[in-house]
Amino acid sequence: MSIDLAEVAKERKIKYFLISYTDLVGTQRAKLVPAEAIGGMAKNGAGFAGFATWLDMTPADPDMLAIPDPASLIQLPWKPEVGWLAADLWMSGKPVEQGPRNVLKRLIGKAAERGFQLKSGVECEFFLISPDGESIGDGSDRQAKPCYDQSALMRRYDVISEICDSMLALGWKPYQNDHEDANGQFEMNWDYSDALTTADRHAFFKYMVKSIAERHQLRATFMPKPFSGLTGNGCHVHVSLWNGNRNVFEDDKGELGISATGYAFIGGIIHSADALAAILNPTVNSYKRINAPRTISGATWSPNTVTFSGNNRTHMIRIPEAGRFELRLADGAANPYAMQAAILAAGLDGIQSNRDPGKRLDINMYTDGHLVKDVKKLPLNLLDALRALEGSKLLCESLGAYVPAFLKLKHQEWSDFSRHLTRWERETTLDC
Ligand code: ADP
Ligand code: MG
Ligand code: MG
Ligand code: MG
Ligand code: MG
Repeated sequence: MSIDLAEVAKERKIKYFLISYTDLVGTQRAKLVPAEAIGGMAKNGAGFAGFATWLDMTPADPDMLAIPDPASLIQLPWKPEVGWLAADLWMSGKPVEQGPRNVLKRLIGKAAERGFQLKSGVECEFFLISPDGESIGDGSDRQAKPCYDQSALMRRYDVISEICDSMLALGWKPYQNDHEDANGQFEMNWDYSDALTTADRHAFFKYMVKSIAERHQLRATFMPKPFSGLTGNGCHVHVSLWNGNRNVFEDDKGELGISATGYAFIGGIIHSADALAAILNPTVNSYKRINAPRTISGATWSPNTVTFSGNNRTHMIRIPEAGRFELRLADGAANPYAMQAAILAAGLDGIQSNRDPGKRLDINMYTDGHLVKDVKKLPLNLLDALRALEGSKLLCESLGAYVPAFLKLKHQEWSDFSRHLTRWERETTLDC
């Protein structure tokens, strides 16, 4: 049944629609369209010059059209007269192949052909900092072990409760909010859904948190490692795979309640982990969160190795309970859509090729990792990850045009970074 957005606008008193899409580096782009004009836009899309955003297009390309998905409609909780809509990108009558939401929908379609539906939940950690970005927003938040700090959490009650109230009103079923392991860092959790809903909510959550923080004279950042010495912003993904009402990862007889299909999916993630890192850890800064030395709090809580475990947070993959696993690799810079698409691609390959995840490790990987032989390390920097992605036939084929476009943009980012002369270099090399 098609939804008539003009009708919805009348019923819900929406004055404007924000037709929004996420580009390849994760920036959200939008046009603000008066409700009176939504009829034509809903059908034909809002026009954009693709080259003006991060999509690897040229200034000579024709108009790119963002056609909103009415099912994604979210009224801004802090300004309900505006209705946010996630859009799919089209050009010359065809879907834009590298459009992140298009990529995810393609992978969801491939999974559906095999009778599978991905369900996922994301944990989007963020810091509340000063508007100039220099310091943690709360000068009193200084404990060495600040995780779950009740006072620091409650000093931010106004912001956190406004975001949580918003999620309650939107029906996302939020269930907990806490102060995380770094000073100034928070996490808010809501229920998992099908991958596309989670990706849309993930994109909207980042926009909502930033917007509500600004209303409280603060700034929110999802940057993977904004402060050296403090734990970074992860974006753990919890994953299960369904056939109708049946979670195919669940099996009472399987180790830790995970089925053979579940272990094969995990095997696929392990097989492609270094290439996945390019998508899940897509910035120069990402590699200062993974592979980081111990933080002031005592642990980074981020993985360094391509390993899996039971309920143990020192590995890349944790199995917290029967029927799902947690991938702890991704960070706050990951594109909400490309991330889910890449996980699905790697996991489906695992099932198709019956990939062996190897041996489960139950050790503390931070302290005893050196005792295990032949453990695969995660890429040490963005360039290593990009090269791994380039070499991954599987991700290149399944993510299609996304990969060359993404690689082009990210190689540019790496060369910008390499051309940058740092204070560290001068200090260590001036007297050579
Ligand atoms: P953690 O213990 O890693 O901090 P959180 O409670 O912060 O866990 O987040 C767990 C996430 O996993 C939530 O989004 C939750 O809805 C989701 N989740 C729970 N069960 C499943 C499942 N079967 N499939 C996918 N996601 C799930
Ligand atoms: Mg113009
Ligand atoms: Mg959590
Ligand atoms: Mg956390
Ligand atoms: Mg987690």
